[in-house]
Amino acid sequence: MRKDELRTPCYVVQESKLRKNLEILKSVRQETGCHILLAQKAFSMYHLYPLIGEYLDGATASGLHEARLGYEEMGKENHIFSPAYKEEEMPEILKMCDHIVFNSPAQFRKYKDQVRAYGRRTDGQDGSADAGSMYGGCAGGRSMGLRINPECSTQEGHAIYDPCAPFSRLGTTLEQMQAELTEEEISELDGLHFHTLCEQNSDDLATTLRAVEEKFGKYLHQMKWVNFGGGHHITREDYDLELLKKCIRHVKETYDVEVYLEPGEAVALNAGEMITEVLEIVDNGMKIAILDASAACHMPDVLEMPYRPPLKDAWEPNAEESVVCREGSETAEDGSLHGECAGGRQYIYRLAGPTCLAGDVIGDYAFDHPLQCGERLEFQDMAIYTMVKTNTFNGMNLPDIVLERENGECEIVRTFGYEDFKSRL
Ligand SMILES: *Cc1c(COP(=O)(O)O)cnc(C)c1O
Repeated sequence: MRKDELRTPCYVVQESKLRKNLEILKSVRQETGCHILLAQKAFSMYHLYPLIGEYLDGATASGLHEARLGYEEMGKENHIFSPAYKEEEMPEILKMCDHIVFNSPAQFRKYKDQVRAYGRRTDGQDGSADAGSMYGGCAGGRSMGLRINPECSTQEGHAIYDPCAPFSRLGTTLEQMQAELTEEEISELDGLHFHTLCEQNSDDLATTLRAVEEKFGKYLHQMKWVNFGGGHHITREDYDLELLKKCIRHVKETYDVEVYLEPGEAVALNAGEMITEVLEIVDNGMKIAILDASAACHMPDVLEMPYRPPLKDAWEPNAEESVVCREGSETAEDGSLHGECAGGRQYIYRLAGPTCLAGDVIGDYAFDHPLQCGERLEFQDMAIYTMVKTNTFNGMNLPDIVLERENGECEIVRTFGYEDFKSRL
């Protein structure tokens, strides 16, 4: 099927763009000897896990279900972190995960003996024997780590994405670690994990590493591995790969540890789009186009983060104009409205979803032509943090999931319907 024949709304992931990202990640692995895992919470299109597994070392999970997906569909290294584990889930987690990261001293103490006991079993009854040989790096057991909080904020603006913000529940500070764990207990840890970045470059990683080393340096020497978490925008054009590699080599060499990275975004950054259709246009002081895609249901980060997603062949309107915009407003002489708009005119629309939520608004965009009902629009960078976050609020259908092969052929991987709405209620 060709792209223009697809039913809307749909997410279309481009294999060529995904591979391009994966090549970059693979080169980092090969040049530094680090391990790179897919953080599934950003991108769980498991149809592509075999392909991703060709380039990366495995996957990491935020909980039992993601862990199972990584285990079943990728079958390589399988890590898990959770702020708090449920007791009844631990046997299954132990069966499927080779690296288990705890968030607090109390969680580590609660489960460490169970984890160690699992590792000692060699009868294979619980899957440990075959799992031990299946996963490299933790033969005969399960590797345990503690997530630390280096108390080093490097991001402004997005407080909900800052695990180093005041009163954060994510990670253990040095003070908590020393107050709550004995030296002997600390010696039972195999690794330390920190995750403090979000869409950041390697200069912020370097800053964070300085704080990690300053605070936790003496413990790093005792560890087998250090996990740098995610939030590394490695596949972004302006990302400083050399500094990243320097950071990895520095930690590997100074502390004689394996280094892990677990990016989510960077794996599928700019590797997919969402295609939607204009259903109707209303006018209430400005033109508002109602789409068959919803911000609230299909791209909740637009409202949560919030941000305005890039849209193909459209521009950000001038801020003043967007309030009073009207169809066909003239571009200012000095080009302060978008010079890109052909013919000196721009057509400004507020793009909004079909739900009953008044705030289901994606944003205001300028076009070089008046929009028509039935016209298709392509939101860009829609592979990550979209299909993993969809919901069926208002009974909205979920977008089809499509893979565009390198030859342009589109394969429909998954379609949704009424049953998917009903089965959740
Ligand atoms: C969110 C998260 C990641 C992935 O983050 P990205 O920003 O998608 O790279 C990795 N590890 C942990 C612990 C996370 O919470």
